Amino acid sequence: MFTLIQLPYAQDALEPVISRQTLEFHHGKHLQTYVDNLNKLIIGTEYENMSLEEIVCKSQGGIFNNAGQILNHNLYFTQFIGTQTTPQGTLLDAINRDFGSFDNFKAEFEKAGTTLFGSGWVWLSADKDGRLVITQEPNAQNPITKGLRPLLTMDVWEHAYYLDYQNRRAAHLQSLWQIINWQEIERRYTNS
Ligand code: MN
Repeated sequence: MFTLIQLPYAQDALEPVISRQTLEFHHGKHLQTYVDNLNKLIIGTEYENMSLEEIVCKSQGGIFNNAGQILNHNLYFTQFIGTQTTPQGTLLDAINRDFGSFDNFKAEFEKAGTTLFGSGWVWLSADKDGRLVITQEPNAQNPITKGLRPLLTMDVWEHAYYLDYQNRRAAHLQSLWQIINWQEIERRYTNS
């Protein structure tokens, strides 16, 4: 059985970038629903004892959609709030190498997020050689299905920003940089 991850910060810790109300709905209602749905769907199936990553790589349909959304949100909610507000060290070197500069990386990432049509996620991932790539993933998709290692994500489903930003997706994405925990992103990059 999968459980709802605990947030590693208070419900109002991301304000004003993400309001307490958005966080309460996004984590407490949307993510909880994906968890409840997946737990019902996998009972008595081959997926019952698999890890979330395995389910995402092997399933389709409703099981894939709910497992993908849990994996995506777990990575999303655990990437906020820390002491390091910009990338440093190995990760900064890789960003400079693969995108030219941190500013250029942010511009390309925001563009990928604003031009993704409909619901989905924009991701920074590493390939098997440690090269960094930005991908747009529709709906519940996660870059692990392409053999990539996900590092950083922005959720562009309207439920992630509509209460705070209404239709201004670009403004929401731009403001998210203020709360990214780059220590955690670097840990994900260097940990395998
Ligand atoms: Mn979401």
